[in-house]
Amino acid sequence: MKLPFICGNWKMYKTVADAVKYVKEFRSLVKDITDVEIVLAPTFTALHAAFEAARNSNIAISAQDLYWEREGAFTGEVSAAMIREAGAEYVIVGHSERRTFFGETDTSVNRKALAAYAAGLTPIVCIGETLDQRERSETFDVLDRQIKAGLDGLTTEQMGLLVLAYEPVWAIGTGRNATPAQAAEAHAHIRQRLRQWFGAEAAAQCHVIYGGSVKPDNIRDLVTQPDVDGALVGGASLDLRGFFEIVSRSRPAAV
Ligand code: PEP
Repeated sequence: MKLPFICGNWKMYKTVADAVKYVKEFRSLVKDITDVEIVLAPTFTALHAAFEAARNSNIAISAQDLYWEREGAFTGEVSAAMIREAGAEYVIVGHSERRTFFGETDTSVNRKALAAYAAGLTPIVCIGETLDQRERSETFDVLDRQIKAGLDGLTTEQMGLLVLAYEPVWAIGTGRNATPAQAAEAHAHIRQRLRQWFGAEAAAQCHVIYGGSVKPDNIRDLVTQPDVDGALVGGASLDLRGFFEIVSRSRPAAV
């Protein structure tokens, strides 16, 4: 059975010491939650320490980015194999902050997603429209382009494992989440495209999660929408108790 997938993206917050303290406390809070896939995405520097603190728990670790080459003269970059060695199982690819501030494109997203799989990582690929694009009624075109180019060449098996995060850019870090109806509409469109381009089975297995100002008080209305398989949570995951609430309210039994 496909479980709800909840990932906390810590962005550029938390030192190694902060991360270890959080994970140690968080793992005891969530220890009995077996019906949600729980993932935390610390910074690169805290990745291995967070993995060690989460060892033998129900918490998996994700990186927030990677570089597609295995190794080489690429100062400042970190490869998929290095991330895997540090203990991560997932890696976020194409977050809108990377697209906006660091020039990430659908082409680089595609190379990174393929490199992630090649190293045994599962990518959490982010897509989503800007406010301008939504206001010009271009949302579906933008999503189609990002899906087609970003996921080009993925096998059916890889597609089945994929976590695809629909994150409307205007909802990220703004406190303005998509309404449940807006999320449902976008997710239905995405699922339909996945069916059309990758087949019914892969489309059904793949997690399509929502991201953008998710909080304890809106998570249930979002995860209960058809085709919403979980959430990517930024700001609200920094607070341990708040994130625990989000995970708890995503449980199938709670919904
Ligand atoms: C994110 O970082 O992916 C995100 C959705 O951020 P926030 O929850 O703060 O909007």
